[in-house]
Amino acid sequence: MDEIRIDNLRIFAHHGVFEHENINGQNFYVNAVLYTDTEKAGTLDKLELSTDYGSVCGLIHETMTENTFKLIETTAQKTALEILKKFPLVESVDIEIRKPEAPIEMDFESVSVKIHRGWHTAVIALGSNIGDRRNYIENAVRQLENSEYIKDIEVSDLIVTKPYGYMEQEDFLNGALVCRTVLSPDGLLDLLHDIENSADRKREIHWGPRTLDLDLIFYDNAVIDTPKLTVPHVDMYNRYFVLKPVCQLVPYYRHPVLNLTVSQLLERLEKND
Ligand code: ATP
Ligand code: CA
Ligand code: CA
Repeated sequence: MDEIRIDNLRIFAHHGVFEHENINGQNFYVNAVLYTDTEKAGTLDKLELSTDYGSVCGLIHETMTENTFKLIETTAQKTALEILKKFPLVESVDIEIRKPEAPIEMDFESVSVKIHRGWHTAVIALGSNIGDRRNYIENAVRQLENSEYIKDIEVSDLIVTKPYGYMEQEDFLNGALVCRTVLSPDGLLDLLHDIENSADRKREIHWGPRTLDLDLIFYDNAVIDTPKLTVPHVDMYNRYFVLKPVCQLVPYYRHPVLNLTVSQLLERLEKND
């Protein structure tokens, strides 16, 4: 990916853990790398097809002077997020914030934090089989839409399906959504759990009745196996109620381990049934 770079932008601001830092302020120096495709702008020589680095400098200045954070970690993250939200051509960004006047009683050049943040594609399965199922699902979608960490949500049709694994329960309403997110897979799972909890989700019987179930199906082409998270979702290829709505959204998405598209996985499942 192409890069637009901003080096050592000086910003006088008030971030710091100590009160005297918040009152007196000090100089911070920002290095930013914007990862973006510049080919079209380069071919046609038009600024509106690229990202205006002057405006980005203005936004960095605004974000860093209109807020006072304790940590440069927070300052960097907030700045990265603002750039990603306001400049849609920027796919990802490095932000480094240096603090050469940090309150350390020793001889040093500067301290700094450097982070990388960017937009990722996530596919999420939606399910409910207690109470007003449609309302639980629509509420969950609304909460995701309201999150500043998520954009471009597309929701599938909702379908009624028979229970899976544990049969002594009501039919499910199932669907899926695809979105762009700046959250890591772990961060996204935490958000999904928060939304489930706000719908009074209880975990009593595995695969048992639930007001709301939000499972992470795909995250870019990531393959993740940790105690907390398996991506792609470990059993998605056996589940009609996942594949059918996901296929409506991203039929061509290729499962990174099985090396089959969602449409091929659905076809295979339907043939075997
Ligand atoms: P299943 O995951 O087979 O559909 P379930 O949805 O009923 O079952 P839950 O009780 O909702 O299971 O989740 C149990 C745990 O599974 C979660 O706390 C989470 O840490 C873990 N988990 C692992 N991989 C994923 C994933 N891809 N999406 C959501 N949760 C996951
Ligand atoms: Ca599930
Ligand atoms: Ca789940």
